[in-house]
Amino acid sequence: MLFQQAIKMKLFFLHLLAGCLLFQNCTEAKKESTAAANGVEDFYTAEDFKKVEKIDAHVHVNTNKPDYVQQAAEDNFRLITINLDDVNEPPPMEEQQKFALHQVKTFPNRIAYATTFSIRHFNDSDWQSQTISYLKNSFAQGAIAVKIYKVIGMSLRDKTGKLVMIDDPRFDTIINFIVQNKIPVLGHLAEPKNCWLPVEKMTIKGDKNYFTQNPMYHMYLHPEFPSYEAQIAARDHMLERHPDLKFIGAHLGSLEWDVNELAKRLDKFPNMAVDMAARIVHLEYQAAGNWRKVHDFMIKYQDRLLYATDGGVEANVDINKNDIHARKINDWQFFTSNDTMTSADFDQSFKGLKLPKQVIDKIYRTNAKKWFPGISIFEKKITE
Ligand SMILES: [Zn+2]
Repeated sequence: MLFQQAIKMKLFFLHLLAGCLLFQNCTEAKKESTAAANGVEDFYTAEDFKKVEKIDAHVHVNTNKPDYVQQAAEDNFRLITINLDDVNEPPPMEEQQKFALHQVKTFPNRIAYATTFSIRHFNDSDWQSQTISYLKNSFAQGAIAVKIYKVIGMSLRDKTGKLVMIDDPRFDTIINFIVQNKIPVLGHLAEPKNCWLPVEKMTIKGDKNYFTQNPMYHMYLHPEFPSYEAQIAARDHMLERHPDLKFIGAHLGSLEWDVNELAKRLDKFPNMAVDMAARIVHLEYQAAGNWRKVHDFMIKYQDRLLYATDGGVEANVDINKNDIHARKINDWQFFTSNDTMTSADFDQSFKGLKLPKQVIDKIYRTNAKKWFPGISIFEKKITE
């Protein structure tokens, strides 16, 4: 039976091949059918980097200067620039929105933006109505998503001085409004798990340096704040309360330290995806210890993962185009090749994941289109 099927398959492919030879421009079909017949998948190479249309789903372009978006265009990237509101990270969201709108107007087919809402006046009686009117205005101006920021859970306090978590019912009206408008949420809630560990137990040198230099943000030193587990539980609880919310967890959903933990949430919440912004190094770190685990995770959840860098630029700052390009090339090498690579962030070497073309196309482009439907504003010129 199997033998007969194999003969039939072979005849079918020979037929297809003969048909192809009659026509020009069918090299692609021939290559694909041969690959399928051999059970071999098709892969991109380093040379394909610029040819493939890509989306960086999480950047912060807080300037009117064109060079950041121009650099992205040179690498065949489109961008989603994300607004956030945190007194410790100026400028405030109103100014960030002005920058975003300027960029969208200048490069309508190259960049889209996500708005946010402020918790500065959370304890005022009209906070909910003010927030909804700001969001309404942002949607009218073309915002394609809403960012929810880690200030909720990490620093926001209510009138009694108690920290407010994202599953607090006071957010329900806002989240319901977002869901009614069919707008997705990009949620940066909590921090990397390293933030709650002693420096010597942190996995990534970048985190070790950052938290050594910024002890006020190092939660291991502040046990009076909620634990890592409590932060993740509040996020999960919010998702349970809002099953219709389309939710993209920024930074691998703050479950960057273990793809198995992330897989549990993706299984539990079908409306959840994650971006990889500033956390690809954690996939590399895990690949150094268990390549198969990371590779198989990427294959299994190929519809739920969005490429993103968390790159960006502030007003009046000159960008280093070479650095930005080099970082993206490095990521491309990790996802498309099986080269042995090293990272400045940890000591072990690791191998590239060599994901098939169809997976690369999803994580670099089509998933962003699916999870942020608003980016159809530049749909016309994107493939498919
Ligand atoms: Zn960011």
